[in-house]
Parts: sequence; C-alpha cells; structure tokens
Amino acid sequence: MRGVVFLGERKLELREFADPLPGPGEVVIAIKASGMCGSDLHPYRARGNAAAALGFAGGGPVIAGHEPCGVVAAVGAGVTDVSVGQRVMNHHYAGCGRCAHCRQGWSQLCPNGFVVYGVTGHGGHAPFMKVPARTLVSLPDELSFEEGAAISCGTGTAYGALKRLDVSGRDTLAVFGQGPVGLSATMLGRAMGARVIAIDVAPERLALARQFGAETVVNARETDPVAALRELTHGEGVETAMDCTGNPEARVAAVRSATTWGRVAFVGEGNTTTFDISQDMIRRQLTIHASWTFSSVGQAECARFIADRKVPLDGLLTHRFTLDQADEAYRLFDTQTTGKGYFAF
Ligand SMILES: [Zn+2]
Ligand SMILES: [Zn+2]
Repeated sequence: MRGVVFLGERKLELREFADPLPGPGEVVIAIKASGMCGSDLHPYRARGNAAAALGFAGGGPVIAGHEPCGVVAAVGAGVTDVSVGQRVMNHHYAGCGRCAHCRQGWSQLCPNGFVVYGVTGHGGHAPFMKVPARTLVSLPDELSFEEGAAISCGTGTAYGALKRLDVSGRDTLAVFGQGPVGLSATMLGRAMGARVIAIDVAPERLALARQFGAETVVNARETDPVAALRELTHGEGVETAMDCTGNPEARVAAVRSATTWGRVAFVGEGNTTTFDISQDMIRRQLTIHASWTFSSVGQAECARFIADRKVPLDGLLTHRFTLDQADEAYRLFDTQTTGKGYFAF
C-alpha cells in the first residue's frame, strides 16, 4: 500500500509500505476517511525531523495522519469485543496500557512512553492502519466517516477544552481563531447553550462561524477584539474564552476579554507569550486551562454529543481528496483559509 510521508520544508511523498497484519492484541483498520489537522502543518513545514517539530521524540519517517476513521478489516489473536466490519475511530495515541493515565483513557499522558499515530507511529493517510485494539473508539451509526475523522483530533480537541471550561447556557463564549478547531468550538459551544462570539481575521472563516451558530463575529484586523467583547457584554467581559490560534496577541486578547472570575482555555500550540500576570490574571481571579486534546472516553462522548444534538459538523468538511492529490491537498491547506480537508478511501 502507499502512504503519505512528510519530508519537511513543504515536501511530501507517497511511499510504498507493506500492508499491515495484526499481531496479538492488535487490529487493522481499513481507512475510509483521514482528516488533515492544523498540527500536521508543523511536520509538513518543518526542517528536519517531523516528530521533533511537534516536540516528540521519533525515529524514521512514518505515514502521516492522526485523524483516522474506518472499519475494522482484520483482528489479531486475543482480541475480543471487536469484529470485522465494525465502524471505528482511533484514539490516536498508545501508551503502556497499565498506568493510571492509560487506564483513564489518557494514554498521551503515559509516563512510560507513548506513540502518537501519524507522528511517531504509522497514521491514517494510507488505506490501512494497524493499532492496538484498546485504542479503538466506536463511531455512532448517525455519523459519517469524515465526521469521525474530524472528531479524532480537531473537533474532539474543541470539545475537550469546552468541557474544561465547563461551558453552559449561562456563559458568553469567545472563540479566538475560526480554523477547524475554532469552528468546532463555535458549533459545539452553541450546542451547549452558550452565546458564542467568534473572532478571526478572515471574512470567509467568520461567515462559516455565523453559519455554525456564532451570534456575533469580530474581525480582529478591523476591530480591537477586547474592546468589542467588552462592548458586547455591557462592559463586563466574557465568562469563557478559548484561544485556538497559538498566536501570542490572540492569547493576550483572550485573557483580557475575560470577565472577573472568568475562565480561559489555551488550545492553539506553539510560540511563547508574555502576560501581565497581576493585572490581567491574578487581580481578576481568572482560571486558566491548558487543554491538550482529549481522552478515549472523551472522544466517545464527543461523538455521542454530536450525533444526539445534531451538531452540523458535516458543514465543516469542505475539501475532499484522494491520496494521489496529497501534495495539492497540503499545499492548499498550508494557505487556505476556510473549512477542513480530508482524504477519502
Ligand atoms: Zn501508561
Ligand atoms: Zn491534531
């Protein structure tokens, strides 16, 4: 089979790999959809080791793609409760399986070392993918494979951060950045009952945010978002804010837009940022969350929530590609400003 390998400096290739066979405790997934996530742009653009670009230790080149979704194609020895043909997502990490974090579904926090599929282990940008059976998460019948792929990182990450923020109908939620994670936060925050205000610099993204339930949109290139958010909240500021950009200015604006006793989540990765801790955080009694993706349990919960609440996630999936279009797909993703892309098999 062929799989996408990032070579760094915006180059990739379709490399030949042996079709995977499941060992004991493993399954092979026939991939139906494999999403492109914002964090894929780090190894795609990197100079040198792709895994190092995301802060992970990794060896040789691996098949990219950490939003895999498909059906079980083969089951290894000792695997019970999983059957061929079952519709599944993959929680795209594998740890030791025995420590407290692994047993709670947070294998990416495993102190004994862990694989990140698509980064340090072979991922979903190929027709087949081999994973431990314990990393599988059922895909509800109501959801498409493309939606399952989105939930497997970007959308699940938005859901995880909203849970950390404990967003409810009592809150105004400001979402900084309306890429795939931010747009997911907008639609999920709306479904949780919040009044959502979406902030971005691209009019196309803000138009999508409105379509997905943002009550108001703010173009940060035209308007100071902190002033705009205060004005929209009678001078008080928002109860909850989330940064999905990783941009230092947006992070500072997210903190400054929060009301006294407000909650802020940082989701966008990379960069360093300077805050006035006393004025901006301590003296306003803020709670700051640093939120990295989600547990396997949280992934299942996110999928169930989206199916039950009929969250319009399919509207986010704007660009469909074949594996042969991988170069074009990532070139476009590197520069595009709307929606989300995925490979279909
Ligand atoms: Zn572990
Ligand atoms: Zn991701």
